[in-house]
Amino acid sequence: MADRSFSRADSTTRPTAILGTCFHTPAYGSFEMLEQALIELDDHGVIERVTTPVDPAYRERLRSAREANDRKPGYLLELDKDEVALPGFIDLHVHAPQWPQAGIALDEPLEVWLNERTFPLEAKFGIEARGSSLGSSFTLPVYQDLVQTLLSRGTTTCVYFGSADVRGSEALAKTCASIGQRAIVGKVVMDDPSANPDFYRDTSTEQALAETEGFIAAIEGHSGKCAANDPRFPGIYPAVTPRFIPSCTEAALSGLGEIARAHDAYVQSHCDESQWQSSVARERFGKSDAEALADFGLLKRKAVMAHGTFLLDGEAEIFRTTGTALAHCPISNAYFGNAVCPVRRIHGQGVHIGLGTDISGGFSPSLYDNIRMAVMASRILEDGVDARVPSERRGANEPSRVSAAEALYLATKGGGEALDLPIGSFEVGQSLDMQVIDLKRPFADLTGNGVFTRPADQLERILYLSTPENIRKVLVQGTCVLSRDDR
Ligand SMILES: [Zn+2]
Repeated sequence: MADRSFSRADSTTRPTAILGTCFHTPAYGSFEMLEQALIELDDHGVIERVTTPVDPAYRERLRSAREANDRKPGYLLELDKDEVALPGFIDLHVHAPQWPQAGIALDEPLEVWLNERTFPLEAKFGIEARGSSLGSSFTLPVYQDLVQTLLSRGTTTCVYFGSADVRGSEALAKTCASIGQRAIVGKVVMDDPSANPDFYRDTSTEQALAETEGFIAAIEGHSGKCAANDPRFPGIYPAVTPRFIPSCTEAALSGLGEIARAHDAYVQSHCDESQWQSSVARERFGKSDAEALADFGLLKRKAVMAHGTFLLDGEAEIFRTTGTALAHCPISNAYFGNAVCPVRRIHGQGVHIGLGTDISGGFSPSLYDNIRMAVMASRILEDGVDARVPSERRGANEPSRVSAAEALYLATKGGGEALDLPIGSFEVGQSLDMQVIDLKRPFADLTGNGVFTRPADQLERILYLSTPENIRKVLVQGTCVLSRDDR
C-alpha cells in the first residue's frame, strides 16, 4: 500500500493582495508592463482582480488593501521601488536524477553520455521501502537541492522525469509538494532488455505498467481527493513517462498510451531529439517518431514531448491536431540535438510550445539561460553557420528569429498552455506564480544606472542580465516559498 501522506508548504503566509510593477506576456510576440498594479487573490491564491492607476476603482481598492494590512500585517505585499515582478517560469523538461552531473561530460557523444554517465547515475536513485515511510541518504537530498535551486531561479512549475525507480519518483513528487513547487512527475519506463543496460531498466513490461498505474494512484489517490489535489495548494500531477521509443517495447508503449487515456494523465517523453533518435521509429515501424507516438496513444492534450529538433511539417500537424506540446530545450540541443529547433515555424504551425532546461543534457537550471539561448540559437538558424557558403544559402530559408519577449512567453504563458493549466501570466483566473526581481543588487544592477527607462529596454535588461541574486522572492499560487530578506 503506497504511502499517500503529502506534507505541504505552509500557505498561512499567503498575501491577499500584491502591489507592484509587473511584466508579463499575455500573447505571443508582445509584452505588457502593469505599472504599480494591485493584484488581488482569492482564498486559493488565484488572481481575482487586477487594477492599475488608470482604473477608477484603483485608489479605493488600494486604500482598503492598506487598511486591511494595518489590521492584519501580511495582507498586502508591496514591492519596493527597485523591485519588479515577472510570472514564475515553467520548465517543461527536467531529468531530476541527472542533477548531480549537470555540466559534466557534455563533450561526449550521446551514447557515451547516456551509457557511461547518465544511466549509472540514474540507477543510483531509489528508495528502500521501510514500512510505509520513505527514506534515503542519497535520493532525497539531491531532489530537495534541485527543487530549491530551480525555485531560486524563478521556476515555479516544473515537469520532471524521475528515474525508473517508482518509490524514488514518488519521493520526488512529495519533495515538490513539501517545498511548494507545482510539479508534473513521472516514473520513467524503459523496459526493452535489448535496448537498456541490465543494471538500469524495468524488470518486465508488466512490472513497468503496474508501477506506472501504482504511481498514478499514489499521487492522485484512488478517489482523486488526496492532498496532492487539494485546490488550496499548487498541483502535483503524475505523468506517464516512456523514456523514448528506442528504450521501450511496443507492449509498453501501447500499454502506457492506454493508461494515459484511462486516467486522463499527463504524458512526457522525447520526440525527434536528434538525427539518430528521429530515425529509430522509421527503422522500427516505418513511420516518423510523432506518427509512432500518436499511434501508441501517447500524443494528446497534456502530453509534452521534449525537443522536436527534427520535427517535420506533417509531424507538427499531428502535434497541433492532438494538442500535444513541445518542450524546446535550446541549451541541450546545442550539445545533443544535431540541429536548431525551428521554434518560430513550429509555433506558427499552431503547436503549443514552451521552454525546458533538460537538466542535464542542458547544464543550466535556469530558464533565464534558456531564454537567452533560444534567442541566440534562432539567430544562428536564420543566418547560418558557415561563412564560406553564400549568405543567401547559409541559413534557414525562412524567417526564424525569436525575440526576447517571445522567449519570455515560451517560459511563462506558453508553458501554461502546454500543460493546460491557468499559469504563466498575471491575468484574472491565473494562479499567482511570481518572481520578484530586485533591479539594484550590488554588482547586479539591472537598471543600467537609469540611462534607459523604456519598458522594453528594462525588460530586456532583466531577461539578459538577471542573476539568481536578483531574484528576492518567489511565490507559488500566492504562497511565498523563497524569500531573501537581507536588503
Ligand atoms: Zn530529456
